[in-house]
Amino acid sequence: MQLQVIIIGGGPAGVSCAIWLKKLGVRAVLLEAAPRLGGLQTWSPYENLWIPGVQGKTGQQVAQHLSDHAAAVGAEVRTTCPALGVWGDYTVGIPAGSLTAPYLVIATGTKPRAGGFTASARVAIGPGTPMESLAVKGNRIAILGGGDNAFDQARFVAERGGVPVIFSRTQPRAQKLLQEMIRDVKVVTGDYVADQKALTVNGEAFDAFGVLFGFEAVLPPGLAPELDNGYVAVNRLGETNLPKVYACGEITDFWHPCVTTASAHGVQVAKQISKKLAG
Ligand SMILES: Cc1cc2nc3c(=O)[nH]c(=O)nc-3n(C[C@H](O)[C@H](O)[C@H](O)COP(=O)(O)OP(=O)(O)OC[C@H]3O[C@@H](n4cnc5c(N)ncnc54)[C@H](O)[C@@H]3O)c2cc1C
Repeated sequence: MQLQVIIIGGGPAGVSCAIWLKKLGVRAVLLEAAPRLGGLQTWSPYENLWIPGVQGKTGQQVAQHLSDHAAAVGAEVRTTCPALGVWGDYTVGIPAGSLTAPYLVIATGTKPRAGGFTASARVAIGPGTPMESLAVKGNRIAILGGGDNAFDQARFVAERGGVPVIFSRTQPRAQKLLQEMIRDVKVVTGDYVADQKALTVNGEAFDAFGVLFGFEAVLPPGLAPELDNGYVAVNRLGETNLPKVYACGEITDFWHPCVTTASAHGVQVAKQISKKLAG
């Protein structure tokens, strides 16, 4: 059977789309840049409390289950296989050459904003595995950012024996509940100067930085769909403004981003493409 769909991005949205397309009898290939499927869930060693019907699993275990499910249904998956460019309608460049299919699904998700910082052994960018890889025990950690992730990660640093200080340029936006959970952590509100080389904030020395500035969309190179607030604009069927190009999951800024909704979005797109192919 000729290849009908190329899905770019193997997080919950792309994997769910691939599983459903396979079960709907549509030939699709799923391309994932990372060595394993699961997207941002591979970054999370924390228990995922938010998937209805799934209990007691970490994000990394959820990622493994998604991967196992794709393998069990025989979905065509290529890992360590970034989409390097897209041209024509539609050829996707990959490290081993290129693939062509009439339909394309963008499921490339988001990445943490770096805000001009560079990741290193002492500078973690984003929550989960980057922060967990910092040596925090007995160390002073500057947490830059004032959202939910900043407060969550400050708590984890404290639980691991570190001393976090939160720097938030504006009044912290984190949920009150998260703020109340770390009442003894120092929070500095207002503009600040953070120097990555010297590891200082407003001249005060730290052992490491945790940069938690939220997330931004990741677009596959060579594709320029219409955007909405920096994310791919889609209608309720997941269609972009480009013919036969769909998008699902966090790359679309749908409400509310999480594993369950990203997976559901992948399912909706799979169903719509199979309907179109069936005429
Ligand atoms: C630390 C952490 C903890 C979290 N905890 C929870 C939780 O408890 N519960 C919950 O529901 N959600 C949680 N989330 C959020 C959840 O992981 C995301 O909402 C979900 O993964 C979004 O799925 P997605 O498929 O849209 O995008 P992503 O998961 O971002 O997946 C996109 C994939 O596309 C790949 N990609 C990007 N560009 C290319 C390219 N050019 N070629 C090929 N592949 C590409 C990326 O490598 C990535 O694997 C957490 C997130 C983090 C970071």
